[in-house]
Amino acid sequence: MSTDSPKTYSIKNYGCQMNVYDGERMAEMFESQGMTPADEKANADLVVLNTCHIREKAAEKVYSEIGRLRRKDGSSPVIAVAGCVAQAEGGEISRRAPEVDIVVGPQAYHNLPEMVAAVGRGERVVDLDLPGLDKFGKLPARRKQAPSAFLTVQEGCDKFCTYCVVPYTRGAEISRSWSELLDEAKAIVDAGAKEITLLGQNVNAWDGEDDKGQMQGLDGLIRALDKIPGLRRIRYMTSHPNDMTEGLIAAHGDVEKLMPFLHLPVQSGSDRILKAMNRSHSRDSYMRILDRVRAVRPDIAFSGDFIVGFPGETDADFEDTMRLVREVGHAQAYSFKYSPRPGTPAAEMPDQIPMHVMDERLQRLQAQIVADQTSFNERTVGRTCDVLLERPGKFTGQLIGKSPWLQSVHVLAPDLSIGNIVTVQITDSGPLSLKGEPTMRAAA
Ligand code: SAM
Ligand code: SF4
Repeated sequence: MSTDSPKTYSIKNYGCQMNVYDGERMAEMFESQGMTPADEKANADLVVLNTCHIREKAAEKVYSEIGRLRRKDGSSPVIAVAGCVAQAEGGEISRRAPEVDIVVGPQAYHNLPEMVAAVGRGERVVDLDLPGLDKFGKLPARRKQAPSAFLTVQEGCDKFCTYCVVPYTRGAEISRSWSELLDEAKAIVDAGAKEITLLGQNVNAWDGEDDKGQMQGLDGLIRALDKIPGLRRIRYMTSHPNDMTEGLIAAHGDVEKLMPFLHLPVQSGSDRILKAMNRSHSRDSYMRILDRVRAVRPDIAFSGDFIVGFPGETDADFEDTMRLVREVGHAQAYSFKYSPRPGTPAAEMPDQIPMHVMDERLQRLQAQIVADQTSFNERTVGRTCDVLLERPGKFTGQLIGKSPWLQSVHVLAPDLSIGNIVTVQITDSGPLSLKGEPTMRAAA
């Protein structure tokens, strides 16, 4: 590493949206210290690898990335490994990769400026404290926002699914306060966002006292956000089925800004496997939640997460998952091969499933998900909906935005700009995106 204090930074995010949010907050912090983003990672004075430990070979990927940061003259930038791999591997990282200067867990990154200063004094720093929500009070104010912004409302998890490392790397479930969240949401909207996606490992476990001292759940928070002028859309992810309260389901029926999209992981369609996973919901209780949401919001689009090849999963268990997928007909879904995480109970279970069986099951599952997604997209052709324009497309005058159901929509609209909300008629669809033609311009 160089000993001058860094002037440029680069942040590489791995994994989930919560890491993207953390990466944005780190960038704001570095910029408030006078640093600027590097044009390329290779030229940065400070590189942060903001890691994820959920699935396979996460640590190995980080070590090979660290190797690539070494410059031809043998020097390297100041390197910080942040996020869940940092939390899980701890000091082992700097033992295996001596060029790493800072190892910082997901709850301690607000200390990065002091850590960088300590590195300048020749120290190496490891900070893996999990001090609750301290960091949020210590981060600088929100700055310019894209039309769609993330807002972390809750962190950690107490549910201890037997395959999952999150309760160990992110700590216990903890909610940010009502007033802090409303202030941050207003700041995000003032800085240009039209849509806010509320984030949490179990976002619908959020709870807290409102300004009148009444206990509220996520639905109460959503209803308060609904009143922010200028905020046009609200989304939330990732939810746990057990925290889908009546109030939250009702909000899908009567809060207009809450978009008709629900990401609700189920993981498996087999009750036997759900029990072994310690999911504390059954196939049937899960399906009943979807029915209740559909009853209040008939056009709701469902998304989910699936794990194939959990230890002991038989062909019959997997067929139960396929049956559930066909019954739901997802608008999109994420599916993963089970990956044993060191220290989790499932990693020690007998009957680990061979890789070729997991590969075959994943292929079948993903083929079904793509077919369902394609037909969901086809069913939107001919409909009229609002699209929030988020980025430029490949062609002159083309912009890409999101439909209420989180589909990407390509719109040819040379007179519109990023951040506009435009009403379009959907004219064409593919498995991954739609095309739309503006019918009228909604209020920006
Ligand atoms: N809290 C959410 C829930 O309970 O559904 C999920 C959050 S988790 C960070 C994101 C997804 O990663 C999970 O839904 C699961 O499908 C996947 N995942 C977690 N651990 C995994 C493992 N060991 N192997 C494969 N996929 C895993
Ligand atoms: Fe992991 Fe979600 Fe289970 Fe928590 S509820 S242990 S984050 S999969």
